[in-house]
Amino acid sequence: MVQKDYTKTYAWCLRRIPEEHERFDFGAKAAPNVDLSRVEGTMIEIQLVSAEKTVPVGVTGPDSPARKQQGFHFYFMTCSEDCCRQLQAAVSEDTLLGHALGLNE
Ligand SMILES: [Zn+2]
Repeated sequence: MVQKDYTKTYAWCLRRIPEEHERFDFGAKAAPNVDLSRVEGTMIEIQLVSAEKTVPVGVTGPDSPARKQQGFHFYFMTCSEDCCRQLQAAVSEDTLLGHALGLNE
């Protein structure tokens, strides 16, 4: 498996995140049957089947505010409203991430 630094890559357009940057973030929930225990608090790659794209996503930890307050399991970072919208659309089309989550391959 290729090691990449996902913390420095925007989801969607996959550009490198500069030191000084704007971020447009959004959260998403996992399908109920997805086991994230091994990847909580890390960055992983997910395949968006409908968009034919693989994008980096943060997995929230059980104690993180995003999980506790909003119930989000995933956390996407994008560079612009435009990228954010496109990614959100792709994510929702993929009926969240059950099969799209390539966790075990
Ligand atoms: Zn972008």
